[in-house]
Amino acid sequence: MHMRSDAVVLFGVTGDLVSKKLFPALYELTRRDRLDVPVIGVARSPWDDQQLVTMARKSVTEVTDEIDDETFDRLADNLSMISGNYADPTTYQRLAERLRDAERPVFYLAIPPAVFGSVVEGLAAVGLADRGRAIVEKPFGRDLESSRELERTLASAFASERVFRIDHYLGKEAVESLYAFRFANRLFEPLWNNEHIDNIQVTLAEGFGTQGRAGFYDTVGATRDVLQNHILQVVALIAMEAPASEDTAAFREAEAAVLRQVAPLSPESTVRGQYAGYRDEPGVAADSNTETFVSTRLTVDSPRWAGVPFYLRTGKSLPGTATEVVVEFKQPQRPLIPAERGTVGLANLLRFRLGRGDGITMSIQAKSPGAEVASRPVDLSVDFGAAFGRRQEAYERLLDDAMDGQHLRFARAETIEQEWRIVEPILDLSTAVQSYEKGSWGPADADALAGGWHTPDLR
Ligand code: NAP
Repeated sequence: MHMRSDAVVLFGVTGDLVSKKLFPALYELTRRDRLDVPVIGVARSPWDDQQLVTMARKSVTEVTDEIDDETFDRLADNLSMISGNYADPTTYQRLAERLRDAERPVFYLAIPPAVFGSVVEGLAAVGLADRGRAIVEKPFGRDLESSRELERTLASAFASERVFRIDHYLGKEAVESLYAFRFANRLFEPLWNNEHIDNIQVTLAEGFGTQGRAGFYDTVGATRDVLQNHILQVVALIAMEAPASEDTAAFREAEAAVLRQVAPLSPESTVRGQYAGYRDEPGVAADSNTETFVSTRLTVDSPRWAGVPFYLRTGKSLPGTATEVVVEFKQPQRPLIPAERGTVGLANLLRFRLGRGDGITMSIQAKSPGAEVASRPVDLSVDFGAAFGRRQEAYERLLDDAMDGQHLRFARAETIEQEWRIVEPILDLSTAVQSYEKGSWGPADADALAGGWHTPDLR
């Protein structure tokens, strides 16, 4: 049994991630009596404790319908600020002094990866790394080499069981539900292979652009931002073999094992797009070749998946926001009932909605009404929100887990390495991105790639 963390330190507390996700998560944990320890914010900005509390309140108010003052005050009582430079040893000495009673602090590095090294060294120099846990965010490096370098930096100070690498998709209930769907339902697992499945599509669509962060986005692009991590994480859950046991180690091994079987992506099967007007945004180079859309075909070199293409796509300024997996089954071997004219044939579809309005829709064939004997697809659908009510947010669960020292929902170092190995051939391609109109599904070549995409259920 791991011991729970007795302090939380947020590096980069003035930033976007803390305000959008971490303050609301800390508030929810306080509400559920899962958090009553010092929470120390660290940043270069000269904030004092009162400013920190004010910002925390503002951020919680933005995501919560009605803030509970008693809960917020309990969180506020635990908040304090350290303002300092990451290259300055006194920043860490002040932190160590503040943490003198904490035996197992958790350090959340919500800072640009470029400063990870200084912070890790600073923590090690004052002895805090020896007794603390580190939470690091994606993007974990920029490519295979830099991710290994980052891993070496972390390993120089933190033992591997003290490092928690966040891909927040693993913390989403709906994503975890893919695992439950496969391994808790006897109904589908026998069909989960190339004998019965024709193809699998994964779409992560954003109905918005760079939201004022174009300068940052221009150095990243869709492949690094989303494909390397969230989409490959989803692929791993869809494609993995059953873990050898219910242990965390067995789950993480099964996840890494299937990624080892994924062939590196090929530039020939990849379409990169950029929405019209992107280059005019502040911070974007006039000749930027950064992709705001990427679509590709992935193959898993295993007996289960040989011959089954996985079509992946993600982009900004698409017609709406959705994250979906569509599993398309093969048509019946010897159809005895024709598909009604104008329908998509007799394929069954399983649609996993992983974003807003999450749930599962199964498209089955039913007799179409009338004299003609023909079939037509109809939906069997479950909406998880309606079925289960409010569920915890990903960051709330992940912070809670890391404080408990539980690794199940965090990526193993090898998983991240495999993900970089898979995307490496399509990083920084010199071929020009193809332009697409805002509000479209990306360049026309992307449609041809998959031979027809199933339109996501936009919410
Ligand atoms: P951010 O807002 O750009 O930066 C966080 C804070 O880091 C800033 O408020 C700034 O605080 C400090 N900072 C910025 N540049 C710095 C530098 N060169 N040296 C030292 N400190 C610097 O970042 P974020 O969006 O919160 O993201 C934090 C981490 O989470 C990043 O690794 C990011 O890639 C990752 N992430 C973010 C999101 C998200 O939704 N935002 C999602 C997934 C992953 P001070 O100037 O006050 O020190």
